[in-house]
Amino acid sequence: MKSRITSVVVASLAMMCLPVLGSVGSARANPTFNLSYISGTSLAEQTAFASAASYWASSFRDNVTINLTVGTGILGSGVLAQASSVRATATYGSFRSQMVADATSATDAAAVAHLPNTTGVSMYLNYTTNNPNGSGSATPYVDLGTDVIVPANNANNTMVRLTNANARALGYNPATSNLFGFCPVACDGFIQFAASGFTWDLNRTNGITAGAFDFVGLAIHEIGHALGFVSGVDSLDTAASPGPTEASLTQVTPLDMFRCSSDSAAANTTLDFTAGTAVKNFSLNNCATTLGQFATGFTHGDGRQASHWKDSLGLGIMDPTAAPGELLAVTALDLLAFDAIGWDLAVPEPGTMVLGATWMLGLLAVRRRSQINGKPLAGA
Ligand SMILES: [Zn+2]
Repeated sequence: MKSRITSVVVASLAMMCLPVLGSVGSARANPTFNLSYISGTSLAEQTAFASAASYWASSFRDNVTINLTVGTGILGSGVLAQASSVRATATYGSFRSQMVADATSATDAAAVAHLPNTTGVSMYLNYTTNNPNGSGSATPYVDLGTDVIVPANNANNTMVRLTNANARALGYNPATSNLFGFCPVACDGFIQFAASGFTWDLNRTNGITAGAFDFVGLAIHEIGHALGFVSGVDSLDTAASPGPTEASLTQVTPLDMFRCSSDSAAANTTLDFTAGTAVKNFSLNNCATTLGQFATGFTHGDGRQASHWKDSLGLGIMDPTAAPGELLAVTALDLLAFDAIGWDLAVPEPGTMVLGATWMLGLLAVRRRSQINGKPLAGA
């Protein structure tokens, strides 16, 4: 049986517009991860977590510092690990400007081209009390974000909610927080592994032992959430009936900008923010070309948090489940998504990216092993 990897999205602690810092200077560097460990985290676990952070550090060229606290805790049944992120909001206009200023790749160019040069985005939406099909109705409607009677209802269209790390990658300087006491040292994110109930394999260089879970792979996954692989649809999906008001729903993330369905595209909206079982695609051009699928929601969707790829398609390390004995591999699709939301992918250069090169070789070995042996997932 596969176990869930969850993303706990913590409400924003700073409801203010972020200062616009402009683009990062020309001297590019890899991100720095400041790691803090809560007591009880073993040295071997600390080493494994640092290895996961090193992977991301070597994958990006964004001159930012990310502060993470990690440890173990009592998690929900069947939950391997979870991440909580400090988040902040920016106006859509500011976000788009930062995306334009930060664009360095073809993926970035496509991503920016999708973002309308307006004060907000339109979306396909449901489960709000404002739903014209009935308060809390599952039937989608088009939310243009042009409510002149209740302007506050436009907040979800005109604000973007970013994890602190994602905000940093785009040139913002959001405040750290103690995350309601979870982080003894002010942090950008907090990651917990289940303290009991699972056997971990802390060393992935020789494969993952049967019956054990890939600790480093899971740490890469959880850091991935902190870096911005999150969807605000989870907030909508888990809201108590009859759902939130549009005015209280300011949850669209950078990744959500690239979430669409055939219906949301046909309705000519920027993105699909509905909870429900309809297929949600990852696309840079509003579903003209689809690159992958997202999970559709724990409550109203496919049973998996929307902050993941669709399960069981083998899309990448941001899949929502992991099986014992499975070596979790980062895919080109994973990296493309991070590229799209504002991270700059590292291009290994001779003599300058030793750590990165080592990791890339490791990943190739992972993929090859996977192709030869197949993932021991089915029925596991
Ligand atoms: Zn996850």
